[in-house]
Amino acid sequence: MWYFSVSSIKAILSSFNRVRRDRIFVWNNWVPKKVGIVAWRAINEKLPTRTALALRRVNVPDLSCLFCGEYAESCEHIFVTCHFAQMVWQNIAIWCKMPPILAFDFKDLLELHGFSSGLRKRKKATHALVLIVGWCIWKTRNETMYNNGILNVLKVLEEVKSLGFLWVKNRSKEAFLTWEDWSRFSCFA
Ligand SMILES: [Zn+2]
Repeated sequence: MWYFSVSSIKAILSSFNRVRRDRIFVWNNWVPKKVGIVAWRAINEKLPTRTALALRRVNVPDLSCLFCGEYAESCEHIFVTCHFAQMVWQNIAIWCKMPPILAFDFKDLLELHGFSSGLRKRKKATHALVLIVGWCIWKTRNETMYNNGILNVLKVLEEVKSLGFLWVKNRSKEAFLTWEDWSRFSCFA
């Protein structure tokens, strides 16, 4: 088993002066607007995470991540680098039969669909899925914050699948999309 930390890879890449082009946020009408808004706010660090609140001079006694308790809670952390988020994304990759996901920030995740094989519709479904995962991670974070919800990767995955089916089937006008196809992510292949 080979382990690495995201921060170590970031350091290696930045030492090569990796140039990143500016990317434009792409909305996706297969998910409700509120789902896209969470992702948009996440990539711009505009969600009220503990670190964001502290930066706005709100008194936050504990900055630690509600998922792992080890690092300060920021958007980049809870959506990408937190162990909990990484488990969610790796399970999503397995479900979608994609290679393991290696992302440095949420923007990388929002470009995943560009690398997925298949039709334009499959790419759009993959993009919708990334937005839905972001929505579900933020929802789980809030449930943990306010209701002391129990963290469960499988629960997040089930939520992603069921909300995804509901939204994509209704909004994509793919009347023939079945739960069986969706739950194997063999749709639009
Ligand atoms: Zn964490």
